[in-house]
Amino acid sequence: MAALIYLDAQTVHPVINGEWHRLAGALEPAEAITTLCGISDTPMFMPLDERRSHGIPRQCDACDTIYRRRRGIPSRRGRLDSRRAAQE
Ligand SMILES: [Zn+2]
Repeated sequence: MAALIYLDAQTVHPVINGEWHRLAGALEPAEAITTLCGISDTPMFMPLDERRSHGIPRQCDACDTIYRRRRGIPSRRGRLDSRRAAQE
């Protein structure tokens, strides 16, 4: 028998070297995770309230670019450029 924990893998953002990443697939027990940008590492689970105890993680630019491209969301830079163009 196993303890089943249901979660949305898109809400799990592993922090590696101070950057948070998006998972490329579902979480499996005792298995390494792989990020959208291709990093594989062994997961360690911590309480959410300890997430900022070692500084505020910043988003990985490569994961953000891949995530936005796959969903047709404009890049952060593209959004800023179009906003500036609309103001001029
Ligand atoms: Zn990444």
